Amino acid sequence: MKIICIGMNYKAHIAELNLPYPEAPIFFMKPDSSLLKSNKVFFIPDWTNDMQYEVEVVYRICRLGKHIQKKFAHRYYDAVALGLDLTARDLQNECRQRGLPWEICKAFDGSAVLSEFVPLDELPDKNSIDFRLLRNEVEVQHGNTSDMLFTIDDIIEHVSKYMTLKTGDLIYTGTPIGVGKLEINDKLKAYMGDLKLIDMKVK
Ligand code: ZN
Repeated sequence: MKIICIGMNYKAHIAELNLPYPEAPIFFMKPDSSLLKSNKVFFIPDWTNDMQYEVEVVYRICRLGKHIQKKFAHRYYDAVALGLDLTARDLQNECRQRGLPWEICKAFDGSAVLSEFVPLDELPDKNSIDFRLLRNEVEVQHGNTSDMLFTIDDIIEHVSKYMTLKTGDLIYTGTPIGVGKLEINDKLKAYMGDLKLIDMKVK
């Protein structure tokens, strides 16, 4: 399976990064070795001084497809989860400046925290998924998928022009405003609506 992540999909987050709005979804990938279950401990590696959290809604692909038109895209996902796209921001800024690829700052072990899945048809409104991240019991991020610059259907149409989507592939759909640095002994909790999906420690 592969993990596709969308960058810069919430306007207020793009503003906090001081970047222009993209014209099409921007995507990058993480390997399956980056997955970390959302109740496990994340250990901050010693090669970064700025490990940051990004809470995101994750869609699970449920059938094979290429060149998927937007109007059919909803047939290709069946469940959502919450994830953390953990990012070594100091290394990412260096990659940006030097025009280098992002794997070193985005694709390391444990960088794709993933919760249990919720079937889409169990959600009250699948076009308006509210989610938030609490760090040490203080809310640091709060988003709603209705604020995404590119919807999951836009994303599927775009990504499937370039690569075949397969059953079990995951799409992390970008983070809202409020990204910040993780510290040792942090406790992270994330909710989709009232449902607690992430509850983990940082060491
Ligand atoms: Zn992200």
